[in-house]
Amino acid sequence: MKPRDRLRIAMQKSGRLTEPALDLLNRCGLTFRQSRDKLFCFGEGEPVDLLLVRDDDIPGLIAQGVCDLGIVGRNVLSEFKGVTGDGAAALAEWRPLGFGRCRLSIAVPQDMEYHTPQDLAGLRIATSYPGLLNQWLREKAVNASVVTLAGSVEIAPKLGTADLICDLVQSGGTLVANQLREADVLLQSEAVLAGPDALPTDERGDMIDLLLKRLDGVIQVRE
Ligand code: ATP
Ligand code: ZN
Repeated sequence: MKPRDRLRIAMQKSGRLTEPALDLLNRCGLTFRQSRDKLFCFGEGEPVDLLLVRDDDIPGLIAQGVCDLGIVGRNVLSEFKGVTGDGAAALAEWRPLGFGRCRLSIAVPQDMEYHTPQDLAGLRIATSYPGLLNQWLREKAVNASVVTLAGSVEIAPKLGTADLICDLVQSGGTLVANQLREADVLLQSEAVLAGPDALPTDERGDMIDLLLKRLDGVIQVRE
């Protein structure tokens, strides 16, 4: 791939992370010219551009070198690392960003007893995070079947396609609305700055260094 002389950051086009991510970049002194319905936003002052995409695509774009950095949930980054896990996609979490906090949790029907992960043996668990769930089941030595769904995971028990779910939880409101309750936590998540394992050795590495310094300043001020 042709070396780029501008830094490219991937972030969610439209969703929970969009506003806080843009706000954070603005606080780091980065402003962007294009309107937000575009895929590509040209950076005005600094040589830093934005790519606005679905959050699920962000780790892949960094792994492929299409983008240098990304702002994405730890849940999405960890799922990608676990599933690919082949070194070619050596991605790292560079900074936790303090927004988009949620948990990847096991949620069971209100009336189901849950004391330990072993209670899940033989049951069907619906999730959009099969990599993380399978890893957790392996660690706990539980033999359960994983039903992978792209969305609307919380209605799977009602539909009868699964006995329970493994999904993102923030306030728990969605669970209550679906007669489910949080029973165990697999991962504490928040938005993170993701990048390759090692800094690029060209000018982009210097730009990333500068951005990280500003980011640390901004995050400290906020805390
Ligand atoms: P996209 O169209 O980009 O694929 P999405 O529907 O997958 O969007 P959002 O629902 O906007 O994504 O969530 C983005 C991220 O926000 C999640 O991956 C997670 O890290 C974080 N998040 C925080 N709270 C929640 C929650 N209650 N439910 C889902 N995600 C949450
Ligand atoms: Zn998504």
